[in-house]
Amino acid sequence: MVRPKKSLGQHFLKDENIARNIVGALALERPDVRVIEIGPGTGVLTKYLSQIKDIDLRLIEIDRESVAYLKKTYPHLQTKIIEADFLELDLDQVFPASFAIIGNFPYNISSQIFFKVLDHRDKVSQVVGMLQKEVADRIAAPPGSKTYGILSVLLQAFYDIELLFKVPPGVFFPPPKVMSAVIRLKRNKVSKLDCDEIQFRKIVKQAFQMRRKTLRNALKSLNLSASISALPLLDKRAEQLTVEDFISLTKLIGDTRE
Ligand code: SAH
Repeated sequence: MVRPKKSLGQHFLKDENIARNIVGALALERPDVRVIEIGPGTGVLTKYLSQIKDIDLRLIEIDRESVAYLKKTYPHLQTKIIEADFLELDLDQVFPASFAIIGNFPYNISSQIFFKVLDHRDKVSQVVGMLQKEVADRIAAPPGSKTYGILSVLLQAFYDIELLFKVPPGVFFPPPKVMSAVIRLKRNKVSKLDCDEIQFRKIVKQAFQMRRKTLRNALKSLNLSASISALPLLDKRAEQLTVEDFISLTKLIGDTRE
């Protein structure tokens, strides 16, 4: 066995049915069968993943003890295991073409995992992940809800997102303090936003940093022109804007900058 390490967010899933359901949520479209598993740990998901016909699997695990355990328990997967920090890893070296990501994620880095997904969105066709329910809720939240935020807007611009099911703490060893949830993201058809993307990210971040203020106030530091400031859209707060609204706003602001 592997002794669970808190610092690495290790909570091992004990429930085989849930493991099967998570793996079953992967909707692989053949011949696209490249899959990265983040944090295989002792391999509860890996076992089912490796049964998928023709799968081209890579396992990214930071913990040396788990890596040794996996190599011993699944000798046929020896060459598929990469001992590395997912956040530091060059994904282009792992797979030259598009791939899916799956995992029972280390909860302390789940937001960072999704920011990395965004950076590689043209290669990450799908994500099936278990994470703390609170973050899953935020990612899937629709405009107008309290949990709608930066990650919701940025991810929903490029992915169709579904909350699949909740998972209680008791099925892990050791149990985490929070509820968990499994979420699936599938790449949508948008290849490029219809606006300057760097500016889009900046505006989304700034708007949500002061989410209780109207956009007129939250975006003050951008020195909006009087004509833009006067628009009714600027009476709204960040959480009321759809992805499309943020794109329109970015275009409006961009057009008037010198
Ligand atoms: N998939 C296993 C383990 C989940 S716990 C299961 O469901 O039981 C999270 C796993 O992520 C642990 O094995 C931990 O060692 C690994 N991990 C933590 N940080 C990581 C990182 N930065 N890169 C890769 N793996 C990481």
